[in-house]
Amino acid sequence: MSKLELRELGNTGLKLSCVGFGASPLGNVFGTVSEEEANASVREAFRLGINFFDTSPYYGGTLSEKALGKALKALGVPRDNYIVSTKCGRYAEGFDFSADRVTKSIDESLARLQLDYVDILQCHDIEFGSLDQVVNETIPALQKLKEAGKIRFIGITGLPLGVFTYVLDRVPPGAVDVILSYCHHCINDSTLEDLLPYLKSKGVGIISASPLSMGLLTESGPPHWHPASPELKSACQAAAAYCKEKGKNISKLAMQYSLSNKDVSSVLVGMNSVRQVEENVAAAMELATAGKDEETLLEVEAILKPVKNQTWPSGIQQK
Ligand code: NAD
Repeated sequence: MSKLELRELGNTGLKLSCVGFGASPLGNVFGTVSEEEANASVREAFRLGINFFDTSPYYGGTLSEKALGKALKALGVPRDNYIVSTKCGRYAEGFDFSADRVTKSIDESLARLQLDYVDILQCHDIEFGSLDQVVNETIPALQKLKEAGKIRFIGITGLPLGVFTYVLDRVPPGAVDVILSYCHHCINDSTLEDLLPYLKSKGVGIISASPLSMGLLTESGPPHWHPASPELKSACQAAAAYCKEKGKNISKLAMQYSLSNKDVSSVLVGMNSVRQVEENVAAAMELATAGKDEETLLEVEAILKPVKNQTWPSGIQQK
């Protein structure tokens, strides 16, 4: 069997599997997941060539980090066989991007993950904090954690794309290694594409999360907390129903759409079952050998045209 494609992550030297394992579902964010299912999903992901696992202390109020830590330990493989990213600054209790909090936060995360270091530590959803604090205080604090060997690389995450340019224009070159964008490189919203030349010029690695628009592009639909407008939800529901009627699967189409752009190092998809892992890896393998279903993609894009690039407010909207 051929292997899942690995892609370079900016200048980090890391090679990430093109499909990454988003572990927010292991925090029961999309419904309850048993410990057995969590362990089996991570095991199957690793077996099929997924080497990148992303979590946060925020997901399920630390539950995701604990579940991922247990599942990775249960793999029983050397630590350098997988890449782990977690986050700081966003917690069940609220946001805190202060140097003190993020410095404590990594020790707590490492304990929950049962690891000595994480490969990437990302400031989580920076649009909810002061971007100037992120530039002047949080990232310098993370640089100290890098020197201490607790983290290898530094990242920032958020929904509004303007937060990335704001920070990257103000930090010294190389201070931020990675950006994680979400819900902007999906069939219904492709606005990340416009930012790719800029991000590449800055030498940062690019991770794109939520290829299924946090459940909008699935047959079963999004969770109750999904922030999309009713109009966007119903357009996606119509697109999913159209695919189903045609004997196609919208999630597969959405995965293949996101995976097609090789400037994106890893497409992080949230998975909570062995079946989802197998489907998403199969979508990537099939894309590599047979290409994507252009006909259905065009039809789905036509259904979604009235809501194309529609997003939702996030954060304190500084930029
Ligand atoms: P997603 O678009 O990956 O959708 C996840 C949902 O789709 C879950 O309900 C999952 O069970 C379901 N799903 C997965 N594969 C499926 C398949 N083949 N068929 C049908 N349903 C399927 O959204 P997400 O989980 O929010 O994003 C992925 C990951 O990216 C997260 O787990 C997290 O690690 C990361 N992320 C980070 C940020 C941030 O840093 N701000 C934001 C969003 C996501």
